[in-house]
Amino acid sequence: MSYDNDNVFAKILRGELPNTTVYEDESVLAFNDISPRTPVHVLVIPKRPYIDMDDFAANGSTEEIGNFFAKVGEIARLVGLQEDGYRLVANNGKNSGQLVPHFHIHIMGGRPLTEDGMTAAM
Ligand code: AMP
Repeated sequence: MSYDNDNVFAKILRGELPNTTVYEDESVLAFNDISPRTPVHVLVIPKRPYIDMDDFAANGSTEEIGNFFAKVGEIARLVGLQEDGYRLVANNGKNSGQLVPHFHIHIMGGRPLTEDGMTAAM
């Protein structure tokens, strides 16, 4: 499977669709999820075109992957979730229900999250 340049997040990265940016630098963009399931629901994406976690882990450099996950932690702090806690979700492929084929991490928090499974909590 090759990267789909017409996916929603590729369009956001090209400026063809709006987004509510919470953080941006040369390699990472973080923006509010368009249909938040929690009071704080931020998506973090690498700017380079990776389809999913599998693609990112296989083809990203160690530095790129390390930098990305450090940024995820920084962004969670930036949006004020470090004290009460949060959940990270990365849907990968068909069985996960991944909708957008550009690798992304959901940062979710702002209320207690249920324990009855990841998707139920989302
Ligand atoms: P996933 O199921 O992990 O692929 O999640 C994709 C997420 O992208 C969902 O939570 C959607 O609500 C979110 N989403 C889809 N389109 C947009 C958009 N234009 N701006 C922000 N978030 C979006």
